[in-house]
Amino acid sequence: MDTILTTYNGVEFTIGTAILEFSYLLAAILFVYGLKLLSRPETARKGNLWAAVGMVLAMITTLLLHTDSSGSHIKMTNAIVIILTVAVGSVLGLIISKRVKMTAMPQLVSFFNATGGLASALVGLLEFSNPGNESLLVTLLGLIVGSVAFSGSMIAYGKLDGKIGNVSAGFMKYINFLILAGLVILTVYILMQPDPHAVSSLVYILFAAALIYGVLFVLPIGGADMPVVISLLNSLTGIAAALAGFIYNNQAMILGGILVGAAGSILTLLMCKAMNRSLMNVILGGFGGGGTVQGDEGGTIKEISVSDASILLAYSKKVVIVPGYGLAVAQAQHTVHELEKILESKGVSVKYGIHPVAGRMPGHMNVLLAEADVSYDKLVEMDEINKEMETTDVIIIVGANDVVNPSANDHPGSPIYGMPIINAEKAKNVIVMKRGMGKGYAGIENPLFFKDNTRMFFGNAKDSLQKLVNEVNTL
Ligand code: NDP
Repeated sequence: MDTILTTYNGVEFTIGTAILEFSYLLAAILFVYGLKLLSRPETARKGNLWAAVGMVLAMITTLLLHTDSSGSHIKMTNAIVIILTVAVGSVLGLIISKRVKMTAMPQLVSFFNATGGLASALVGLLEFSNPGNESLLVTLLGLIVGSVAFSGSMIAYGKLDGKIGNVSAGFMKYINFLILAGLVILTVYILMQPDPHAVSSLVYILFAAALIYGVLFVLPIGGADMPVVISLLNSLTGIAAALAGFIYNNQAMILGGILVGAAGSILTLLMCKAMNRSLMNVILGGFGGGGTVQGDEGGTIKEISVSDASILLAYSKKVVIVPGYGLAVAQAQHTVHELEKILESKGVSVKYGIHPVAGRMPGHMNVLLAEADVSYDKLVEMDEINKEMETTDVIIIVGANDVVNPSANDHPGSPIYGMPIINAEKAKNVIVMKRGMGKGYAGIENPLFFKDNTRMFFGNAKDSLQKLVNEVNTL
């Protein structure tokens, strides 16, 4: 393995190095292949598995073949520590993933994202004082980005879990701007020192400031704007991992990080578009949660009985189902699919209107419905389904609220003003399935519930859908 193949720029390339680099290339190909498979619900499991195989391959070859600048392999004691920590992490991961409820998945993803950010931040912190480290700019960038991703994701975790509420104040964006400026100035100052390693204590200030920035930039995000921040944090963790990869000149880390960073950045832009927000506003943490107008809460609501709803549905030509977070809470995806099949057997055309931020994580509704084997071509994106609203006989809203809230169009003071919604009110009849008059994630009233063409069908979504299935079956 240590036979020298060639020497380039004073660096010796052995058979071991060649195998190591080749395994990284193979791992990168597996990551890309895994990502490709992840883009379709039917192949997503396989995609996850192939990407994991790539990661395990990169880890094993690194343990066996990695050499430092003096040509020494990883020390046995270090290898044992690495294997033990990987084993403990894997067992913990397995237990958590078996126990976690599907509805708590978004929080879990945020938590995992936080750990990735922390790992990169710690690499930056440790490697800065390493005298052999010549990539100081990259090290500091990795430290800052990783720390922001860590503390920001922990706040996102708390918010998704309902443990942390919105803390919003108009001046916070100015504080965030000042901290950002401070981070840049301190980084430049450290790098301009004749011996930056000599001022390594300043790096702890940078670490603390980046942690505070992560907290302050996510804390005020409210209304319905969390999805944008979650995808941005996801992308930051990828970038931080890639930067850590540069420090070690490790191709697998660089490529893995770049793929996560790029996927997260694309998702962030898509989410910004979906929410009609600018990226700059997100970075300065100055949007959402601040509005005061709550929508016109006045008016009365009208309920609909199971039999009336069933007749209305069974004799319709076109029905659109809009799933939301409540569908995930009730785990009603199989029952909604059953209703869809029964209605179709009666000649009703049924489609699903999918809002990009419905639920609590990007693609949440697609994943849920795919789990219930709902055909992918029945899922219609918001912009497309909105074109069909006027010709829709009945729109059934199953546990969705913010994504159909007309305040986003009509109330300039609303925290969700400007966010594109599914224009359910334009359908001929609206049936809203929810347990009571509970608010959505944005915490605001929904004037749709008081409209003339809206009827409320109260109850747990799964039970309500089951009642409809039973009744429609008898017609
Ligand atoms: P909402 O959170 O707006 O509303 C969900 C509704 O479901 C509630 O009003 C609740 O009313 C009802 N509900 C809850 N449990 C049940 C149940 N068991 N049966 C029937 N109904 C139930 O959901 P939407 O999907 O409309 O909107 C998603 C929101 O979450 C948006 O504001 C989005 O920005 C935000 N968000 C999205 C993320 C993403 O990535 N997709 C990430 C973070 C936040 P009731 O209590 O009366 O039953």
